[in-house]
Amino acid sequence: MTEMKFDEKTISNAIHTKWAGKTVHFAEEVDSTNEWAKKLGKDGAEHGTLAVADYQSAGKGRLGRRWTAPSGSCITMSVLLRPDFEPQYAPMLTVVMGLSVAQAAQKMGVETSIKWPNDVVVSRKKICGILTEMSVEEGKIRYVVIGVGINVNLDTIPEGLEDKATSLYLETGKKFDRNEIAAYAMEAFENNYERFIKTCDLSFLQEDYNRMLANFGQPVRVLDPIAPYEGVACGIDERGGLIVEKKDGTRICVSAGEVSVRGLYSYV
Ligand code: ATP
Repeated sequence: MTEMKFDEKTISNAIHTKWAGKTVHFAEEVDSTNEWAKKLGKDGAEHGTLAVADYQSAGKGRLGRRWTAPSGSCITMSVLLRPDFEPQYAPMLTVVMGLSVAQAAQKMGVETSIKWPNDVVVSRKKICGILTEMSVEEGKIRYVVIGVGINVNLDTIPEGLEDKATSLYLETGKKFDRNEIAAYAMEAFENNYERFIKTCDLSFLQEDYNRMLANFGQPVRVLDPIAPYEGVACGIDERGGLIVEKKDGTRICVSAGEVSVRGLYSYV
C-alpha cells in the first residue's frame, strides 16, 4: 500500500463521530501533543478537540518517561475533554481509552491485549501507550487531555525499546492507514465515554477489558516504589484498579497512575 496522506483534512474526513475528534488540529511536528492539547484547552477549545502530530520532539509517558516515535509511521494524538464529573474519576479514562484503542485495532483485524493500565500490546510487546493529564481549578475539572501514541507502520523499533515495543506492521506484515485507525479509536472512545459518564464507573467494560488483559491469571510484580511485591493479576475492578492476589491469599487493589506492573518473566 502506498503511504496515505496524514493531515488535518484526511484525518477529519475519516472521523465520523458526534464530538470526539470533530475538530482536528494537525502539525508535522510539536513538542508533545498533550502539551499542545492543554494549550488548546486553556484557549477555550471545545470538548472532543483532537490534536495530532506526525512527530513529537518531546513525547511524554507516565511518571516523567519519554515516548519516542519517528515521523511518518506512527500516530501521536491527544483528545481534549471537558467532563462535568469530579476529578477523582478522571484516571479511569485511561482504561476507557485503552479499551477503545484495542477495539480500534480489532476492527482493523489485529488481535491485541491490554497491559494494565495504559498500554495496548501485541505478542506481549507495546504498540500503544496512553497518558491522561488534567487541569483542576477550585476542585473542578477545567479539562482532561488523553494522549495516545500508536506504532502503526513503524519498521524499525527505536533503540533500547526492542524488547518491549512493536508495531502493527511488524506484527502483521501489513501497512495500515493511520487516518482509519485514528478514526476508529475516536469512534470507539466516544461510544465508551458516553457509557462511562452515565455512572462514572467501569462496570460496563470490565468484562471486555479483563478478557483482553494480557496477564490475567498470571504472576506479576507490582513495582511499588516503597515495597514491591508479587501476586497473580485477577483483573480490574469497577474503578479501574488492578486486583492482585498475593501468595497468602490477600487481595490488593492497585490504583492506576501510581505504579508499574511487570510480568514475572517478561515485560508484560
Ligand atoms: P510501565 O511499562 O512501567 O507500565 P508505561 O507503560 O506506563 O510503563 P508509559 O509511560 O506509557 O510507560 O510510556 C513510556 C515508556 O514507554 C518509555 O519509558 C519506554 O520504555 C516506552 N516507549 C517509549 N516510546 C515507545 C514507543 N514508540 N513504543 C512503545 N514503547 C515506547
